[in-house]
Amino acid sequence: MHVVRAYLRHRPVGWPAHGALVGDTVPGMSLRVTAALTAVLVAASVGVAVAEEPAAPASATAIRAYHDSGEWAKDFATQFKLASKDLDKALTVKKGKKKPKGTPTLILDIDDTSLSSYDCAAKKDFIPGSNGICAVTENLPAIKGALDLAKKAVKKKVKLVFITARPENETIRAFTEKNLKVAGYTMKHALTMKPSGIAAETSAAYKTAARKALIKGGARIVLNVGDQQSDLSGGAAQYAVKLPNPMYVNK
Ligand SMILES: [Mg+2]
Repeated sequence: MHVVRAYLRHRPVGWPAHGALVGDTVPGMSLRVTAALTAVLVAASVGVAVAEEPAAPASATAIRAYHDSGEWAKDFATQFKLASKDLDKALTVKKGKKKPKGTPTLILDIDDTSLSSYDCAAKKDFIPGSNGICAVTENLPAIKGALDLAKKAVKKKVKLVFITARPENETIRAFTEKNLKVAGYTMKHALTMKPSGIAAETSAAYKTAARKALIKGGARIVLNVGDQQSDLSGGAAQYAVKLPNPMYVNK
């Protein structure tokens, strides 16, 4: 079973409309409505304005407004809470059932999932490409929910694997490892970066193949967390959680 904790205030491109999502499924996935959507529906029905995530890529003004209203942080907290619960569920062996095979593994995306490029990109007024520049030039701060989730997972003997579309090369790998460490990700982990030979491949294809390779190598991916639909779309995880990100879209 592959459960997607979709961030439903703004459905990811190519997904069915909200109405179709409720109780509906898309191939290979079973979807559940989050509390966030319920809140929006309730608010809509009583005419209360909700500061919601603007569709990506949003204007600098809209991105700042979402951030400064505190809604982005709130939405992060909601999704990380779901992620934490899903992790517990995936690790619970029901009475009378056999422990599932494979090494329990947590997959985290890096940019705007584990590390935040917001402050750096804001200085560049969110011009297209600013996040990519930030990723390879600045030490970015941790996103607390992701760091807490990583710590919890490792404590529960879950293997931590970062899968990022940052390009694989010696310099960027060293820079990324250093940033993760400085930000607080000091626990044992693996880091998968996008090889130059497949630079033209979409993030979705590269990341899906990377997860499948891990499974082939004996992993059981209990949870996959990312800020882009392309982090999650290929399945190959028991649970998947989508974080908000109005700044950009990576396919
Ligand atoms: Mg990302």
